[in-house]
Amino acid sequence: MKTKHFRPPRSRLAAILIAAAMAVSLVGCGVDITSVGLPPNESLEKGDTVQMEVDFGTENQAEAEAIAKAAEKLDLTWTSSDETVATVDEDGLVTAVGPGAAEITVSVADGNISSTCLVTVTVTATGVTVPETLELVTNGENTANLNAKATPEDATGITVTYESSDPSIVTVDETGLVTAVANGEADITTTLTQVNDMATGETATAENSTQTEPLVLTATTHVVVTTKVEAITLDNTEGILTVGNTHKINASVTPENATDLTVTWTSSDNNIATVDADGNVKAVAVGNATITASAGNVSAEYALTVNNITCSYCGGTGHTSSNCSVKAADQKAAAQAAAQKQAAAQAAQQQQAAAQQPAANTNNNTSGGSTAPAPAPSTDNSSGSTSNPAPSGDSGNSGGGSNNVYGTVVDPNATQGSGTDWTQDTSNGDDQTLGTKG
Ligand SMILES: [Zn+2]
Repeated sequence: MKTKHFRPPRSRLAAILIAAAMAVSLVGCGVDITSVGLPPNESLEKGDTVQMEVDFGTENQAEAEAIAKAAEKLDLTWTSSDETVATVDEDGLVTAVGPGAAEITVSVADGNISSTCLVTVTVTATGVTVPETLELVTNGENTANLNAKATPEDATGITVTYESSDPSIVTVDETGLVTAVANGEADITTTLTQVNDMATGETATAENSTQTEPLVLTATTHVVVTTKVEAITLDNTEGILTVGNTHKINASVTPENATDLTVTWTSSDNNIATVDADGNVKAVAVGNATITASAGNVSAEYALTVNNITCSYCGGTGHTSSNCSVKAADQKAAAQAAAQKQAAAQAAQQQQAAAQQPAANTNNNTSGGSTAPAPAPSTDNSSGSTSNPAPSGDSGNSGGGSNNVYGTVVDPNATQGSGTDWTQDTSNGDDQTLGTKG
């Protein structure tokens, strides 16, 4: 609060002039006092005291000394019409105790003479108090009263006016009621003007006052106007994610002119799911978590269920089809079956060839036949020809022969040396094919 103190008014007791003592030669005794006189009005600041001076009048003008002597014999009575404003003691000492006006009367007990002074008590303002800051919203608490208070609160003759530095942001009426208009900041200046009319004691205005220089005090209130968030909504309020997967939740905040549209995201359990500043949720582990989006004083929740990885092949959890043991076993079995079938077919073919051999040795079928006929100068591959130089190509040889032939067709290396090579070969082949599918 800033205050400016222009001119502290000061009341003082006007000098009381005792009627000029005329040069009348009257001797002390026999002076008859016929009137008492007080000044018609007096203005005091609260707390001040003043001694009332009485002007004694006489029928015949007498010397001051004689009058004073006569006055001492009078029994004077002092009264106040309002002791909450001014009190007076038996000697005419007036004390200003509160703002307002009171009549101080002096009277002579044994006579019918009296006089009255209108005493006005003023209280000078030393400051004006208003809130340093006000925060208002356009939606909700959009008004507030400054409740301007003078210091001291019983300061007299004051008027208070208000002015906004920017009525497009905030307005203020003559009662100090401040109303938010739009987002922004502005200052309200409160001006206290004090004018005390010393002549009448009535609350004066700048126009009719005898006080020519009013006291002016000001104070400033800084007002901040915002628009608060009313609601936040999510594009979905629940969802299911598989461990490792992510999903972006979209939040919208209303009204659009809210001062702070910032949305903050939190997860109820970061061990289950995390969420970043943009609403991207990542499923971490199986379980449930609540993702909360907050803006201003409102929030919205997204109920997330995180499921285990599910195998597309076997339906089991915790693994994918690419490392599914069920699938691997199935593939192995299938490959084995296929290999057995092929081997059986091969064997049948060889048997058939062997059966035909004795009848007509001219048989030149590719596999076993090529090894048997020695007459033909072995035009085919070296392995076959060298492996059985002896023409005694019986069934025992043919078995070994078939093995060799098969080996050369499918896998020339690394698969040899074990009786189950063929199984493995076929298995590998299938694996590759199926592997690209799954
Ligand atoms: Zn599986």
